[in-house]
Amino acid sequence: MKGFTDRQQLLAKMRNGESLDWDIIVVGGGITGAGVLREARRRGYRVLLLEQQDFSWGTSSRSSKMVHGGLRYLAAGDVKLTKESVVERERLLTEAPGLVDRIAFYFTFRKGLFPGRLAMTVILAIYDFLAGIKDHRYCNNDQLINRFPGLDKTNLKGASYYTDAMVDDSRLVMRVLQDSIDDGGHALNYTKVTGLLFENEKVCGVSVEDTDTATVIELRASAVINATGAWADRLRNEVNSEKRIRPLRGSHIIIPKSLYPMSDVMTFLHQDDKRGVYAYPWEGTTVLGTTDLDHAEDLDIEASISNQETDYLLNAFNHQFPHHKLTRADVLSTWAGVRPVIAAERGRNPSKERRDHAVWSDNGLITVSGGKLTTFRLIALDALAAAADSLPKSSLVGDEPMFVKPDIRANELLPNNPQWAQRLLGRYGQKAQTLLEESGTNEHISLGETEFCLAECRWAVKYEAVKHLDDLLLRRTRLGMCLPNGGDALYPALKDIFSTERNWDNVRWEEELSRYKAIWQGYYSLPDNP
Ligand SMILES: Cc1cc2nc3c(=O)[nH]c(=O)nc-3n(C[C@H](O)[C@H](O)[C@H](O)COP(=O)(O)OP(=O)(O)OC[C@H]3O[C@@H](n4cnc5c(N)ncnc54)[C@H](O)[C@@H]3O)c2cc1C
Repeated sequence: MKGFTDRQQLLAKMRNGESLDWDIIVVGGGITGAGVLREARRRGYRVLLLEQQDFSWGTSSRSSKMVHGGLRYLAAGDVKLTKESVVERERLLTEAPGLVDRIAFYFTFRKGLFPGRLAMTVILAIYDFLAGIKDHRYCNNDQLINRFPGLDKTNLKGASYYTDAMVDDSRLVMRVLQDSIDDGGHALNYTKVTGLLFENEKVCGVSVEDTDTATVIELRASAVINATGAWADRLRNEVNSEKRIRPLRGSHIIIPKSLYPMSDVMTFLHQDDKRGVYAYPWEGTTVLGTTDLDHAEDLDIEASISNQETDYLLNAFNHQFPHHKLTRADVLSTWAGVRPVIAAERGRNPSKERRDHAVWSDNGLITVSGGKLTTFRLIALDALAAAADSLPKSSLVGDEPMFVKPDIRANELLPNNPQWAQRLLGRYGQKAQTLLEESGTNEHISLGETEFCLAECRWAVKYEAVKHLDDLLLRRTRLGMCLPNGGDALYPALKDIFSTERNWDNVRWEEELSRYKAIWQGYYSLPDNP
């Protein structure tokens, strides 16, 4: 069974002076880097991706998880970005059902707030037209309150129904990486690029630190693609002193589904600043998000929600649903991510910054940053186009499917539960079948309100380059965020899996447990002092 690149084996080879030359080195293991790896490998390039932490550890595990065109961008007149996004959305829905799934959105109207019903109807007609679908309508107060019981009726003027899609962002990264690796690409987590190598003042490779052993290895490549998201200026500043990334933080709160169950997304304007915020279902929980503010903190420290953001989101929900009176004690967990926004002008309102990507070429270093999860395929193609002069020609046109289609259908995989089978096929592709075969049926049971199961944990520990317990609980699965107390009820079962599959002894388990608890407490729960 082919899993992820074997780190130890590849790093040992490199230390022995083998595998030091590549066509392309991609720096950054978020969705942008993963997309570049996939598109580069299918063009036949020898390509290696390097991620300083875990795959998707950066922004790509901390988005709002929507695959969307962004109505806001359309309302701001950005038709090109919206069209590209909705077309990519439709493509992902077709190619990866079970990973990217359509979901209903309800944009609520209140008297005196813009946009109202008329403007929204026009915007949605264009939105659907650009996507080639027709799936929007007006919904009156009764229909709306039926969907969202307890919604405050004051000045309520119904809502617009439309559709977009949801994804597990980390699993999207993993699926793209896995398909690339199956195709002959390589990806290493926990390997940090510490600097660029130059020949005749042109970038010709990178220095890499294996964070396990603190060994530094020099690797050469015809093209180096810097896909480090919010960190992009750092590497780029070795060849160009310009600072273009404006890190903007967005935070989310997770509450248990039992407090307010949702099956659709509700969008509304925050009572304080009239920004759009969402309440939505995710992995058996209800999520409130997001915020949008300058992130001045050190990017090497994980982003986390502030007290001010916590109040902003709780107040937003309580304003819409006054009887619920959510408090901090109701919060299951939180997450915060940093948007790698390409800055336009100083002092611009964060929410007014454009959200498209940029590609720069400086002395042989290609930097790609900004954009969205939704458009990762197009972003990857742009980055490769910028590197084309340094690479052998490719005959591919760039319209190939992103994912390898599994040759088994959901109802063949699990005739009694085709919906869950589809979810597994979307996330693991063809490997879903082996995942089920290599685990007992007692591991196929959903954990808590989520649809994750222990079979997925076993699979990740065996084949998905899990190095730490937090890789498993916060990214390969989201159990650490969606179960109470960081998923502590699972510790005995997980200890057993790590012991069987990875020979972790008691000491290693305890070390990992305290590392995980510290990360969870520091960055995935509420700030200590309200
Ligand atoms: C709050 C929030 C909500 C969002 N919601 C949505 C949404 O709903 N839909 C949508 O489409 N988009 C959304 N986005 C945008 C989307 O998440 C990002 O555009 C996308 O994840 C960026 O991916 P990336 O690969 O460029 O960056 P990242 O995912 O941050 O990846 C960059 C990686 O580079 C690594 N790295 C940095 N330096 C080095 C180095 N020296 N060596 C090796 N590795 C290095 C980092 O560790 C990091 O993992 C949202 C973003 C935020 C913050």
